Amino acid sequence: MRTDLPTSACAPAVGRFAPSPTGILHLGNLRTALASWLSVKVKGGQWLVRIEDVDRHRCRVELAERQLQDLAALGLVSDQSVLRQSARETTYGEALATLQAQGTLYACTCTRKDLALMASAPHGEDGLRPYPGSCRGRSLTQAKADAVRFHLPVGEVAWEDQVRGLQRDDPHQYTGDPLLYRRDGCFAYHLAVVVDDGAQGITEVVRGADLRCVTATQLHLQAALGLPHPAYAHVALVAAPDGTRLGKRYGALGLQELQDQGIAIAEMVGWLGYSLGCLDRPEPCSVHDLLPGFSWDRVPDRAPTAAPLQDLVEWIGRHAGPSLRP
Ligand code: GLU
Ligand code: ZN
Repeated sequence: MRTDLPTSACAPAVGRFAPSPTGILHLGNLRTALASWLSVKVKGGQWLVRIEDVDRHRCRVELAERQLQDLAALGLVSDQSVLRQSARETTYGEALATLQAQGTLYACTCTRKDLALMASAPHGEDGLRPYPGSCRGRSLTQAKADAVRFHLPVGEVAWEDQVRGLQRDDPHQYTGDPLLYRRDGCFAYHLAVVVDDGAQGITEVVRGADLRCVTATQLHLQAALGLPHPAYAHVALVAAPDGTRLGKRYGALGLQELQDQGIAIAEMVGWLGYSLGCLDRPEPCSVHDLLPGFSWDRVPDRAPTAAPLQDLVEWIGRHAGPSLRP
């Protein structure tokens, strides 16, 4: 299977940022959100925010509100009302029924403990262990009680990534047969994300590089559900000074924390825009000021290392001139 982009020269671009409300948006998340916004706005398209709260046990309403506030503070506001996955279970159930009618689903009876290890969604490239397909062939007679998986077709999938160029993956090496419905009664990430991207007419998916490894799986699911393939761009994650992912050790580096350290929003936007190749140097600006300088050709496939807060404050001061020193 091979997918090409752009989908169509004249189709209106529709992009989205789809955070899960399980934490605050840190600098790397904000950078990804900005990239998704810039990419559709330079084409005159629409940008949507979708709250991926399909996992009722891990998501918090107040975190979703904070995420929306932080995005709005940067100037990133959804062009349509915000879609919340928690309100879409009927639609996910219909998609599951469509797949079931194709005979591509099976019941997974692996233990709760196994599922907790294998199924919390989405996986990162680091912690990913493919599901080995142990339960293939089990019928869905007790679908309500069992977890449900999609039997992936055999073979590699290729797509053109706007940041990384041609990608080719065998999804059996990454996710294995993806979980679509969990024994705890939640629909799973892969099903919800694919159904919603289709329902919202998303033409381009811009997301963190940690999700590159689930793309082939999602392309297979789109094909099975008769949905179009969006274009993909997997944006590098901002790394902490020690090279680890920002969300983990330095997870608290969100908009509020940076403001508390004296960094103004315009400075943050300038730094993020600079890191996305829109500016020659970080200088305070609005997201609209970044549009003329945005091009995927200039977005680096490696993100800058975000220094710890104080270093970041100093870094911005050093690079942007004395007027910006807090
Ligand atoms: N909700 C996912 C996350 O927060 C992102 C899903 C996606 O962009 O495809 O990691
Ligand atoms: Zn199983």
